[in-house]
Amino acid sequence: MKELQNRILQDGIAVNSDILKVDSFINHQVDPALMLRIGQEFADHFKDRGITKVATIESSGIAPALMTAQCMGIPLIILKKQPSRILNDNLYQTEVTSFTKGTSYELTLSSSFVDESDHVLIIDDFLANGEAATGAIRLLRKAHATVAGIGILIEKSFQPGHEKLVEQGFDVYALARIRRMDTGVIEFLS
Ligand code: 5GP
Repeated sequence: MKELQNRILQDGIAVNSDILKVDSFINHQVDPALMLRIGQEFADHFKDRGITKVATIESSGIAPALMTAQCMGIPLIILKKQPSRILNDNLYQTEVTSFTKGTSYELTLSSSFVDESDHVLIIDDFLANGEAATGAIRLLRKAHATVAGIGILIEKSFQPGHEKLVEQGFDVYALARIRRMDTGVIEFLS
């Protein structure tokens, strides 16, 4: 998506060769018009696949995931990050290691909102090592749902997440794919 690539070049900050900051339009301040066009793009790409729900991981994926759900006319499920395991029959949980923080959390989903009739599209802001997306897939499978695909705003293609997910047969659609970056430099795959 050219518009997102241009915005990353204009307003993104490559902190180092690993971390990109997009606080001025995605992660802290949010550009709703851009989020809506991103939602439309995902809705177009994943149309006619029998998708029943969009899921994202709190909190930075919520804005684009909500717009995607709105454009597809289906509900949004926010997978919650709990600090620790909770004993409750109505909850599914799985442990995920955070790329940016280096800490772990329990990704949590209530059994009230997803079941075996659901075919779910996962949306997230970044794809790095694929831990968050893999955790979301594990959790949705615990709820007996199927995964329709994974929509990512910014993929750091030099990190292993994309390959890990594609190897497992998932359709990964990333709107901006970064080939290489460093302080002051961001290069896209195409
Ligand atoms: P993964 O689980 O694929 O290793 O990392 C994905 C998660 O880590 C995303 O949900 C995102 O919140 C965070 N993340 C990974 N890389 C970056 C980055 O370069 N910048 C920001 N802002 N978040 C990132």
